[in-house]
Amino acid sequence: TETVVSSVPAARRTGEPGRLWHTFCDMNTVSRGPEFVVARAEGVWLWDSSGDRYLDGTASLWYCNAGHGRREIADAVHRQMTLLDSYTVYGDFANLPALELSERLAAHAPVADPRVILTCGGGESIDTAAKLARRYWAVTGKPEKTHLISRTGGYHGLHGIGTSISGMERFRAGYGRLLEDTSVVPHDSAAALEAEILRVGPENVAAFFAEPVVGAGGVYLPGPDYFTEVARICDRYGVLFVVDSVICGFARMGNWFGIERFGVTPDMVVFAKGVSSGYVPLGGVVVSGRIADPFWNREGNPFMHGTTYAGHPSACAAAMANLDILEREDLFTVALEVERHLDGALRTLAGHPLVAEVRSGLGVMGAVELTEEALTERGITTADVFAEARSRGVVLRPVPRALLVSPPLIITWEQIDHLVSTLAASLDAV
Ligand code: PLP
Repeated sequence: TETVVSSVPAARRTGEPGRLWHTFCDMNTVSRGPEFVVARAEGVWLWDSSGDRYLDGTASLWYCNAGHGRREIADAVHRQMTLLDSYTVYGDFANLPALELSERLAAHAPVADPRVILTCGGGESIDTAAKLARRYWAVTGKPEKTHLISRTGGYHGLHGIGTSISGMERFRAGYGRLLEDTSVVPHDSAAALEAEILRVGPENVAAFFAEPVVGAGGVYLPGPDYFTEVARICDRYGVLFVVDSVICGFARMGNWFGIERFGVTPDMVVFAKGVSSGYVPLGGVVVSGRIADPFWNREGNPFMHGTTYAGHPSACAAAMANLDILEREDLFTVALEVERHLDGALRTLAGHPLVAEVRSGLGVMGAVELTEEALTERGITTADVFAEARSRGVVLRPVPRALLVSPPLIITWEQIDHLVSTLAASLDAV
């Protein structure tokens, strides 16, 4: 504990505001401190700088699928950095981890004849997929096909295009003019997607973006035939079907990319988070051979896109070691059992007077939504419940109407019960 405390910057101890501008938060509040310094983590547990322990009910931000403190990932990164820290994959440069990872992802992707673009995260990958969709139509003689359709509650990162196609208005407002050839359809209706394609004109629509389960928007599960219908509609109107598996991938839904649960074959799959369990930032896009074809098999059609750290060998080495763990421990099968147990435990909260709805049962994730009465008349916020739970040693994720959970896949039944009973006690306390 002493070592941990002395590692906290002096500014925090003297009570002065720090310099770190946190993500997604009101710094007017957070800068008053004290910040919650996560000092160490192991398995599903976190320790703060005072040495107090917390259950990580959210796998950080949905990403630490393999759990914290995996020595073999750290060792793999160390080995790779000692051999070759990093080198670009610009032009014909390559490195072995990037080549190996691409082969491995292609072997498991639910995409026909796949090619793999590597990036540093989810939002970057969404912008890559959107640009590639538009470019594909441009080089195949349909440059007017630019319109992008996404879903209510859909979250696709906050880069330029991800901001434009956000299904949550609070992420779009206040930045001036965003991309205008975009629209959002209800997340639960394939008929609404078809109607929107017809309204815009199929000749103008480039792609449709959907998460297998809407994640950050509040864990909304698709109906049983939703994706079959969506795939049929996209195919019928010549709209590229882009699956955003950033949250749903790498065993969180019991398979590699989440969308396999619905038996459909998208044109592109965007991934990040669980691919490396977040030990080193990494993301990418798996692209079907059909979409790759005009770029790979015709002269003079480069996709003029990429970033400095694409194919970073140390990030790819982290991913390879992480995927070794997922496979060796069969976290794909384990996750299905965790999904069932978590679902059962969360559903015990359905009768709580503050709870309007529990959404779970597809993937290791769930949402507990508060009632309108609690949120408006009684003025209870999800931040109150979050704070209460954290003071009791459990980290949850508050979104405007719900508390979200998405623990590491190695969580035990006992730990799930601890998570859910702490959530229940926190609801009682607020
Ligand atoms: N897509 C989905 C479904 C996500 O949940 C996220 C992040 O939460 C992103 C994209 C963006 O990823 P990143 O934060 O790595 O840019």
